Amino acid sequence: MKKLIAFDLDNTLAESKSQIPDVMSECLARLLAKYDVCIISGGKFEQFEKQVISRLNVTDELLSKLHIMPTCGTRYYRYDQIDKKWQMIYHNNLTAEQKTRIRAVLEHGAKELGIWEAHPYGEIIEDRGSQVTYSALGQDIGEMLGEEGLKRKYEWDPYMKKRNKLRDLIAPQLSDLEVRVGGITSIDITLPGVDKAYGIRKLIDALEISADNILFIGDMLQEGGNDYPVKAMGIDSIEVRDYKDTPLVVEGILGVTE
Ligand SMILES: [Mg+2]
Repeated sequence: MKKLIAFDLDNTLAESKSQIPDVMSECLARLLAKYDVCIISGGKFEQFEKQVISRLNVTDELLSKLHIMPTCGTRYYRYDQIDKKWQMIYHNNLTAEQKTRIRAVLEHGAKELGIWEAHPYGEIIEDRGSQVTYSALGQDIGEMLGEEGLKRKYEWDPYMKKRNKLRDLIAPQLSDLEVRVGGITSIDITLPGVDKAYGIRKLIDALEISADNILFIGDMLQEGGNDYPVKAMGIDSIEVRDYKDTPLVVEGILGVTE
């Protein structure tokens, strides 16, 4: 029996770095009435607040059934109904030495490949505590340029060639860490063994549920995709083409149980 429905964020619940649409906000509210819901992504907590939490119109009780796992579950947040605020349950950060080394290797590698953006929109390299993320065009391009920014992001590396090249170049130099393609213009570096499966395992332990109790929905479930580790660990998974498919999947889940 499914007890928890887990989602990827970017391109599964919303357009990359954008707010969830009304229909998704309603879907999540209806799901929360029946299930625990987890959202797991490479982004930081503030991104979840902006894209999802601020768009939810649910009671505190339902909000407490939402499990937020930023940076692939290296951080875990729950809503405290008594304090009426989000609380970090745990975090698992990189050391200062590791972060400095990652920054140097990323910048050097991107310059060597000729993809270090001279005029980025916001920071190219962002410290997310437990993860360092390279965003080719700058972290804030979506916010600063809107639709045009998203378009540029999608056009930057449609076949994942640049991201794969950069990953292959820098991974041997960061062999004690894990280097992965993240979103449509990004590379994520974390402690080894940290991917979405890591987060889901943490969640299974925290909630004392089994893998069978979880259904996962994501847009990158193909081998090498950032959602694939969840499927590979044996979680029942549904792939969506993009966030426009997801309400249909949710309708299907609710149709069986409502
Ligand atoms: Mg995604």
